[in-house]
Amino acid sequence: MDFQKDFPILKSNVNGQPLIYFDNAATSQKPNAVINTISDYYKNYNSNVHRGVHELSQKATSIYESSRKKIQKFIGAKSSTEIIFTKGTTDGINVVAFSWAETQLSKGDEIIITTMEHHSNIVPWQILCKKIGAKLIISPINEKGEIIMREFENLISNKTKLISITHVSNSLGTINPVEEIIQLGRKNNCKILIDAAQSIPHFKVDVAKMDCDFLVFSGHKIFAPTGIGILYVKKDRYNEMNPYQGGGDMIKDVSFEKTTYNDPPHKFEAGTPNISGAIGLGAAIDYVNKIGIDQISNLEDELLQYATEKISSINKVKIFGTAENKASVISFNINGLHPFDIGTLLDQSGIAIRTGHHCTQPLMNFYDIPGTARISFAFYNQKTEVDFFIESLKRAIIMLE
Ligand code: PMP
Repeated sequence: MDFQKDFPILKSNVNGQPLIYFDNAATSQKPNAVINTISDYYKNYNSNVHRGVHELSQKATSIYESSRKKIQKFIGAKSSTEIIFTKGTTDGINVVAFSWAETQLSKGDEIIITTMEHHSNIVPWQILCKKIGAKLIISPINEKGEIIMREFENLISNKTKLISITHVSNSLGTINPVEEIIQLGRKNNCKILIDAAQSIPHFKVDVAKMDCDFLVFSGHKIFAPTGIGILYVKKDRYNEMNPYQGGGDMIKDVSFEKTTYNDPPHKFEAGTPNISGAIGLGAAIDYVNKIGIDQISNLEDELLQYATEKISSINKVKIFGTAENKASVISFNINGLHPFDIGTLLDQSGIAIRTGHHCTQPLMNFYDIPGTARISFAFYNQKTEVDFFIESLKRAIIMLE
């Protein structure tokens, strides 16, 4: 099926060649359904939410809140009050760090992350640990890019208060065994945050089944606009959280002496929110539901397998991330060549890939490399695009050698 017709940008030419977009892990393209929904908001009912008695504001509020419900259903949360709108994954992790962890953790407590985390699941914890005297513990991985579960288990102790872990590695594509990790955490009374930035767009994620405490993702990686994201908070955690940002909308009553906060999730959404972004995210979820997340998953698995076989057959290619369980990403280097040069030559053929450290410098240090070339798929990519990419890559190698 040709899903590319739904995405206007995929009809464009880049450097005189039809665009092949293989940088979906950085951000996904937007379908007409999302673009038109945002345009409709600005053309026909642009107004602020939760404030006006007037018709436009009521319409905007109702559609904005209906997006929250769509997301609740999509991730299997029990109530839409468990869904907080954020700016994105990074913002969501920072909310957990400074609204929950800062009040719940103290000196000597430990937070476990892994070697393969994105900087956004490292730096907020470093800032927090410095502030409160907690300790960041790094769980090791093997050469294939998998968490070494035996060692992970040994790191958990009665000092461990939080496990914060990526569901899928943006640099390697590894799908981590989060269910097993959550069970281990539960046995030891740890709370768990799942960074779902790279899993939500690719396969079914169910927070109730997983039984995590927090889950974060970015709208822009699942066909919605930038600047909108989701923080799922299990209801039980709300009474342990204090807002770290104050302002309009998050209050019930303000005087100079005392402020009473609004109920969650609004308590954690200070100021005018990203209304068009939230509405756009609702439209993106509708679009994904129409295609079906399982179909998306199957199409991408097929592409991943096809491309992995083709790329592995090229001489001098080394793939980083060869886990048993992978999604949508192939990171590679070609012996003796700089990934930046490969990316630049592929761009001449209209192929967009990512090169560099992918915001995972500690992971690059583990492999002792400065970076990789990375291709990452969405369901709208096609095998013919993979074929053209392989031909272009071979040509680039000959030119650079
Ligand atoms: N975590 C992972 C696994 C990611 O892939 C990304 C985006 N590359 C982030 C966190 C950060 O997302 P954002 O920049 O949208 O906040």
